[in-house]
Order: sequence, then structure tokens, then C-alpha cells
Amino acid sequence: MTNTLFEGFGLKKIINASGKMTALGASAVTDEIANALKAASQDYVDIDELIHYAGTVIAQHTGAEDGCPTIGAASGIVISIATVIAGKNLSLIEKIPNTDGLRNEIIIQKGQNVHFGGSIDQMIRIGGGIVVDVGSANKVESDHIEDAITDKTAALLYIKSHHAVQKGMQSIETMINIAKKHNIPFVIDAAAESDFKTYIAMGADIVIYSGGKALEGPTSGFICGKKDFMEAARKQYKGIGRAMKVGKESISGLIVALNQYPFKDARVDEQISRMTNLCNKLGKVEGLSCSIKQDEAGRPIYRAQISVEKEAGISAEQLLHKLESGNPAIYLRHHYVNVGILSVDPRPLLVGQEDIIADQIISIIKEAKETNVQ
Ligand SMILES: *Cc1c(COP(=O)(O)O)cnc(C)c1O
Repeated sequence: MTNTLFEGFGLKKIINASGKMTALGASAVTDEIANALKAASQDYVDIDELIHYAGTVIAQHTGAEDGCPTIGAASGIVISIATVIAGKNLSLIEKIPNTDGLRNEIIIQKGQNVHFGGSIDQMIRIGGGIVVDVGSANKVESDHIEDAITDKTAALLYIKSHHAVQKGMQSIETMINIAKKHNIPFVIDAAAESDFKTYIAMGADIVIYSGGKALEGPTSGFICGKKDFMEAARKQYKGIGRAMKVGKESISGLIVALNQYPFKDARVDEQISRMTNLCNKLGKVEGLSCSIKQDEAGRPIYRAQISVEKEAGISAEQLLHKLESGNPAIYLRHHYVNVGILSVDPRPLLVGQEDIIADQIISIIKEAKETNVQ
């Protein structure tokens, strides 16, 4: 095999079987998206016009009135917060993150003030917001939210994420109702969600998505929502947004990714046949059992679930670490490692990588058994 770009840089080779991991480069894009990135990088365009056009494409795929491209969902949060505080007023836009004297309080439920790889709290503050997190980490009542509303409240923010506490929080519907009753914007961070229409349809004013997660686009993101807010959001690129500039390459790749999304095929048959091959190889190893499991949330993802038993001579955790420190470094999904289970996500695997994973696991187990015998 020829060297990849990253190997040419002298960096270690990675096999990503864990999913959409920012730390491993999130997604590998299709040829059509890659071609758009290349073509954009070798040409000129009026950036304002490109950003506006991206807004119309985002609107078309989300059902929102308008949209705004960003460099990621994290900058989408920053820009959304700046938007609800400074609006389209250029002097205020240029003052952000200083918002003294303005309506600048952002209400968030305590169990949603989480860390996704960066902290939600910090993103709000960069955008000029004062974080008002209400209730307790595992229990928030609607009164907690309503009681916190003052004439300084700029928005209610909801974080839809597996990182957030799921039990004891108030629902999106409840927050939208409270926001409407008090005439306050409702913003939702749906970074990793794969449904780009639901929250707009529910009545959210601004919805934030990542372009590199469910969309499987380039490093990018987008926000969508009411026309006035989206005009204001784009204007933040004259202010705080300039420090998180989204380039012509990312915007173009994002547009192509959005246009491809409705036609995307989960290729379930291919997932199952690749994971069956992997399981057939691993099933022959004493101490391992392997089966195919659909995603817990019901998405069309069919992972190989490897159960590591005592006879393997190594724990699931030890196996995980040996795989990660090998060459190539192999990253498996490890949500259930504490009960001896590792999973292989077929979606990010490049051609033939399931064989490399199987061979590597088999050789680690063989070595562990030999060591134990001595
Ligand atoms: C991943 C994530 C983000 C950040 O998205 P990027 O596109 O990587 O900037 C923000 N919020 C949540 C809940 C996330 O899961």
C-alpha cells in the first residue's frame, strides 16, 4: 500500500473503528465532497455571496427560513450566543465578548452544562453570554427555568447530546413553551443529531449542527433558523466570528455534503457482511465471542460486538490499550469495556481494515496466552 498523506508527515497510522471522533479526524468524506474541497481551494469567490448561497442550501435541507455556515458546532454555539445578544448592530458585534449593560444571560439546565471535548459554558462566555445554569445536575423543574428569567435574559439554550444528563431534565417542548411565553429566543445545540428538520419544525429559533458528525462532511458546521437571526449570525463574521473564519473550502464541502445527505445509503448489507467476516475470524479464538448488534438508539449501524472472556488471558481493557498503542493504532468503541465488551463500528473503516483489526486482535491474544503459560 502507498503511504497516506499523514504517514508522509511521519505521523502514526490510525484505524478508526470507534465512530465519529473529533480527536481522530471525525469523518472521511466522499469523492464528491473531496473534489469540492479541492476545486474551491484552487479558485476565487465572493465570500459573502458564497455564505448567502450556503444559507439557502441549509434552509432547503432543514426547513428553516435561512442558515449560516460555521467551522463547527462549537463556533456555531459562540456565533448563536453573539447573535441573540448583539443582533445586527455592528457596534455591539464589535464589542463582543464584552456585553456590559446588554441583555446577556443565557439560561441552561445544569445537567446540560457539559463538556463535549470543549465546554459549553466556555462557548457561551466567548459569545458574550453570562451562563445561568439552573436546577441541579440531575434534577431541573420548569420553575427553575421560569424563576431565572429576568429582563437580562437573552436566550434559553438546550443541549441535545449523549454527554448531557438524560434523566430529570425538562424537555425541549417545555423549554420552547417557556421561551414563547416570555418572548425569548430558544436555541438548541443538536451537534451530533442526524435529523436536520425536527427542531425547526418544533419551533426552535436557532438550531446548531456539526458538519463532520452525522452529515459526514468536512470539518464544518451550520446553524439554521429564523431569517432575522440568520442575517445577524452571518454579520457576526465582522466580529467574534472572524476569529473562527469558515473558509471557501469548508463551505463548499458542506454544501455538497448537504446535497448528498438525502440520498445517502447506510449500506447495511455491506456493514453486516464485513462484520460477519470479522466475527467469523474472531469466533475461532478461545476466550472471544463475537456477534453483530444494531445501534442501541436504533440507527442503521451494525457493529461487531466482541466479548472478551477469562479464557482470552487478557481483559477487554488491556486489549483496548494494546490495540491503541500498536502500529497501526486501532481505536475500538469502548462504552461497555467495564463489562468486557468492545465494538467495531464498520462505518469509518476503509477497505480491508476489518482484516487488519482481526489479525491484530488474534496476535495480541496469542501473545497474552503464551505469556500466561510461562
Ligand atoms: C461535538 C459537539 C460539539 C462541537 O462540534 P464541532 O463540530 O466539533 O465543533 C458541540 N456540542 C455538542 C453537544 C457536541 O457533541
